[in-house]
Amino acid sequence: MKKAVFSLLTTLALATQLSASETANLWIEEYIATVPDFPIPGIQFKCYPDLLRNPEAFHRVIQTLADRYREFDLDAIVGLDSRGFIFGTALAYEMNLPFVMVRKAGKLPRKVEKIDYELEYGKTSFEIEVESIHKGDRVLIVDDLLATGGTASAAATLVERLGGEVVEVACLIELEGLHGRENLKHPFYSLISIEVDE
Ligand code: AMP
Repeated sequence: MKKAVFSLLTTLALATQLSASETANLWIEEYIATVPDFPIPGIQFKCYPDLLRNPEAFHRVIQTLADRYREFDLDAIVGLDSRGFIFGTALAYEMNLPFVMVRKAGKLPRKVEKIDYELEYGKTSFEIEVESIHKGDRVLIVDDLLATGGTASAAATLVERLGGEVVEVACLIELEGLHGRENLKHPFYSLISIEVDE
């Protein structure tokens, strides 16, 4: 009993330091696993297969995002290869909006705009079909996780090159401490923030 009261107090104390929406989303943490040293030593890889295997939890995530973005007057949702597709397509379907893919280089067969960008280790490239965004489109970029912000920034640059306006970048998880939010030029929203312990 004592333990339960203590735990409740701790939760309340924590809640006072967090915004209402962050507190409301704390339940997601139980669905996130950390795998140390994957894919290379030193990286604490976050994965969430239990969330995706639980229709109720996955639905709640998509509903929370849809509730937030309903008033944003969006024209398109851009999902980032590959885990941004999971949340991006579900959200686009729920909101009845066009879904656009930003893919790793060499995957899109038609005319593309391309950008090279830095990862935590090494370089990679993203591409978007030039016809997929129209001038003035209000775009939400969706990925699963924000770490350093390099991936989302590269995607935002592609959208802007096509004349789109990046209204916000949304992720399931923000890894706090890697300065991703500061590295992004655009508003950012995540359902939960997790302190990096690497
Ligand atoms: P960044 O460009 O550093 O913000 O990295 C974000 C991208 O890399 C996202 O597409 C993530 O899926 C992936 N990523 C980076 N770090 C991690 C991590 N620790 N766990 C899981 N995915 C990650």
